[in-house]
Amino acid sequence: MKHSGDLSAWIKKAASDAGFDLSGIAPVQDFPDLTYFPEWIAAGRAGEMKYLESRNDAGELRRASLRSVFPWARSVVVCAINYNTAHPYSTEVSDSTRGWISRYAWSREDYHDSVLRRLHELEAKLKETCGDETPIETRSYVDTGPVVERVYAKYAGVGWLGKNTCVINQKIGSWLFLGVIVTSLELTPDLPAPDRCGTCTRCIDACPTEALIAPYELDSNKCISYLTIEKRGTIPDELRDGMGHQVFGCDICQDVCPWNRKAPSTDKPEFQPREGLVNPALAWLAEISEEEFREKLHGSPIKRAKRSGLRRNALIAIGNSGENGLLPVVERACRDDDPVIADAARWACRQIQTKSTPA
Ligand code: SF4
Repeated sequence: MKHSGDLSAWIKKAASDAGFDLSGIAPVQDFPDLTYFPEWIAAGRAGEMKYLESRNDAGELRRASLRSVFPWARSVVVCAINYNTAHPYSTEVSDSTRGWISRYAWSREDYHDSVLRRLHELEAKLKETCGDETPIETRSYVDTGPVVERVYAKYAGVGWLGKNTCVINQKIGSWLFLGVIVTSLELTPDLPAPDRCGTCTRCIDACPTEALIAPYELDSNKCISYLTIEKRGTIPDELRDGMGHQVFGCDICQDVCPWNRKAPSTDKPEFQPREGLVNPALAWLAEISEEEFREKLHGSPIKRAKRSGLRRNALIAIGNSGENGLLPVVERACRDDDPVIADAARWACRQIQTKSTPA
């Protein structure tokens, strides 16, 4: 090993040099929070997100036990980067002809790429400092590994798991991208971050679709982020009202969190918004062409919703706006070949008519 001092402290310094705002180390353990995960899956709370249910040969959920996937794993280095930018929150925007895209998706580069690039830089430095005489195993992940990153973030002291289920750091809030390096190194772990939600219930009270069914418990089937990004096909009627003007993701439970009131803004260029993605015109999104979708959103996480999903979401937001001026857009969409679009458009049409009819 080329490094002779405190390797854990060295890793945190190297993480900071790679551009991470926070980092910490958690031991690989079957934490109590992880036993909750199989119960959450079994209760159907993950909706159609089948990738969360990937299992090993023994039929165990891969994300529930890191040791069962990587018997060599001893520590997890958790890194976090602030993506908050100096732009309005969704709760501050009032133009009803415009939609809301979750702030994590405004970035110029897909965060998976920008976070993974930094993790690989850190991973390479770590291997170099350990040298050939101390071979180590490492794996870096951003959302894709057999790791419940949020739980390891808590035990690495990066932040506590709020009642809104987000990782919240006492100093910089919850606008955080997480990445992890799983390693065979026995590193000195950090202390878990203490829960600082206290008696607050703002996020639970503010969620328009009541997706936070209890403190710390999310039903994805009702979550606007899930509905607008992961859910394919039609969205249940009873949840459409609550979606408001959200067209991709939702920031409400983080916007209302007091720990984000003083969240600092990042000056990293790749997290600054692309033109047109902060508060985009609903009419534009509802009629976005294949070509525009491909070109304007190239490399953006928004592409995950697919063009059909984004148009569907925009039509529901138009219905919620009650804007008569958007009726021509909706009427054209009623004749769309895609049944999901036509269904959302017919619903939007009825909503606008109802909202514009004097009581
Ligand atoms: Fe915790 Fe309140 Fe923030 Fe919800 S809004 S995560 S209860 S501090």
